[in-house]
Amino acid sequence: MGCDGGTIPKRDELVRTKKKPEQKDKTADLDAKWKHCAITQEPLREPIMACELGKLYNKEAVLEFLIDRSKFECASSFEHLKGLKDLKELKLTENKGYGRPKSEKGDSYIDTQDAKYICPVVGITMNGKHGFSYIWSCGCVLSDRALKEVKSDICHKCGSKFTQDDVITLNGTEEEVERLRQRMRTRKEQAKLAKKAKKHKVETSESETKTSDVKKAKTEKVATKTSSKEGASGGPKDKTPNPLSIQKDPKTSATYKSLFTSSNKAKNQQSAHWVTYNPFYN
Ligand SMILES: [Zn+2]
Repeated sequence: MGCDGGTIPKRDELVRTKKKPEQKDKTADLDAKWKHCAITQEPLREPIMACELGKLYNKEAVLEFLIDRSKFECASSFEHLKGLKDLKELKLTENKGYGRPKSEKGDSYIDTQDAKYICPVVGITMNGKHGFSYIWSCGCVLSDRALKEVKSDICHKCGSKFTQDDVITLNGTEEEVERLRQRMRTRKEQAKLAKKAKKHKVETSESETKTSDVKKAKTEKVATKTSSKEGASGGPKDKTPNPLSIQKDPKTSATYKSLFTSSNKAKNQQSAHWVTYNPFYN
């Protein structure tokens, strides 16, 4: 024990003891972020997912969370996760050298810096010391250096097209997360508007078909009037006609036939006829 027997510590001794735990905390912090699920803090294992804010999750944990978030104490920090559409399964590149014992000192500090995944373009490890991002449209994970150096709108890993808006920084700084949050909001609003526009389009086309139906029904009504006049001139048998004979009757018009449930048109009909009572739909 120092400092208890009258020993005076030197300045560099004090500085060193102060510095060490700080460094350790930083490593632990990086480890927590890059090697553990953001919800459960369990070690990450594939399949791994990421949200629009660049946080990493175990797929099974995030599925559990989506089913019943009340089980999770941290639920308030993940309010942006509403469904699977808010997440992307990541396509990572495995680090073949991962887990091999280091030839030099078996320092645990060095080991924690080793990472399971690397950038497929420049080969740097995903240990938290280098910036990494993923592409929202395809899910591929690349280092920021690769994305910056090889300027292209084609993903270097899978070859699919992407825009700069699709690039999401993984475990970014607070400012970066805030920027991603803004972008997430805009994206959601745009999706909402697109959905609304689509719905509006469907509604318009539906009303168009409705108008044509009404027109059709009107002509049918006219046809009924004329045919009922014709029927009145006949004998009492005509008042209660056998539906089958109506369909076979060469004298009656196709429109008149279509008014009865025995007609082919009525059989294919999905809803009740607008004017006649149909016992199949009531
Ligand atoms: Zn890709």
